[in-house]
Amino acid sequence: MAVLDKRTSQEIINLENKYGAHNYHPLPVVLSKGDGVYVWDVEGKKYYDFLSAYSAVNQGHCHPKIVGAMTKQAETLTLTSRAFFNDQLGPYEEYLTSYFGFDKVLPMNTGAEAVETALKICRKWAYEVKGIPENQALIIVADGNFHGRTTTIISFSNDTNARKNFGPYTDGFISIPYDNIEALEEVLKNNSNVAGFLVEPIQGEAGVYTPANDYMMKVKNLCNQHNVLFMADEIQTGIARTGSLLAVCGDCNCQNACERQETYARPDMLILGKAISGGVYPVSAVLADDAIMNVIKPGQHGSTFGGNPVAAAVAIAALDVVNDENLAQNARKLGKMFREKMQDFISTSTIATLVRGKGLLNAVVINDTEDSDTAWNICMRLRDNGLLAKPTHGNIIRFAPPLVMNEEQLLDCTRIIIDTLKEFEK
Ligand code: PLP
Repeated sequence: MAVLDKRTSQEIINLENKYGAHNYHPLPVVLSKGDGVYVWDVEGKKYYDFLSAYSAVNQGHCHPKIVGAMTKQAETLTLTSRAFFNDQLGPYEEYLTSYFGFDKVLPMNTGAEAVETALKICRKWAYEVKGIPENQALIIVADGNFHGRTTTIISFSNDTNARKNFGPYTDGFISIPYDNIEALEEVLKNNSNVAGFLVEPIQGEAGVYTPANDYMMKVKNLCNQHNVLFMADEIQTGIARTGSLLAVCGDCNCQNACERQETYARPDMLILGKAISGGVYPVSAVLADDAIMNVIKPGQHGSTFGGNPVAAAVAIAALDVVNDENLAQNARKLGKMFREKMQDFISTSTIATLVRGKGLLNAVVINDTEDSDTAWNICMRLRDNGLLAKPTHGNIIRFAPPLVMNEEQLLDCTRIIIDTLKEFEK
């Protein structure tokens, strides 16, 4: 360990390049410590984290309550598999289902696994409850989606890079334009074999595309009308990120996914990951009511680590923090400030053309082509100026800090971002 500690950033990057698969293209910064909204590199330079591990670290780095829960549980019992009961899972399932207002949860580990789980439950429900003939079930998805990296999930992606040479692909998916309710209606009207619609309430990876305000509600109503399961992938948008507990809560200000709210487009299946653990441990979940979840019987789906005691303890602590620290309200308030500041700058800027987003999930569109390296170069300069962000799809930079940020820090960050962008004005 002592040897490792002495290595420079470049030496560590060289090790990854030599010994690791090249399946990512990280910004060249090597982080070794995190606390709240800050991270430090191995040379001791401090940065604002404006990515939050793709919205996993909503509660801030190394939140003491979450880390405390993990440490305590790790010293007591880590893994039993589901061959036996453990004393943490039942209480966690009770906590989670009441937190989000569903009858049942199926616990998994990563986001992609949770999406796979939802797709499997949806198909099973289609055959056993809806009565779709065997192997005929169709699931609708949206163009530009990102739901993970498994073979089935990339089968319905339209990102060539994610798909190419990974075939043959899984059948049974229809892709329609995002934020286009007519397209959804058309497919539903002409197909009695549709089992479900899988959709992100805001398309994060695609570049933070925010649909019309009433899109989710219209989706929910159409799905209900056609007896089709509405599956909301809130892996990136959920857990207070967009200024409400879930993005499907709409403009509701409370901390709950409560049915009282008229704005709440309650999905039939809610898919969560990332910040459900505050980025401390891989935890994901699919929530649904009994009429759907009960199609799954022993032996039909599972995971060795899904629902393990550490995950259960960590997720309870992480979700407590969301409530205790009013993270949804904070994301809402700071997100508005962020967009206002950026909009002021953009109105006279030649380098940035647009800011969009909700809560603290935002993106700035850079005035250059998708294949240009301008956004990358801006992110490199942001790094030099003490703020870490990453381009998505070439000319879009996503800005998603931990939700524990305060107003003063946010203003400091908008100043860094605007000053950096100014260096690139044409
Ligand atoms: N779904 C959405 C909306 C995501 O943003 C992601 C990850 O970025 C995933 C699914 C996949 O999650 P994971 O990387 O944990 O498998």
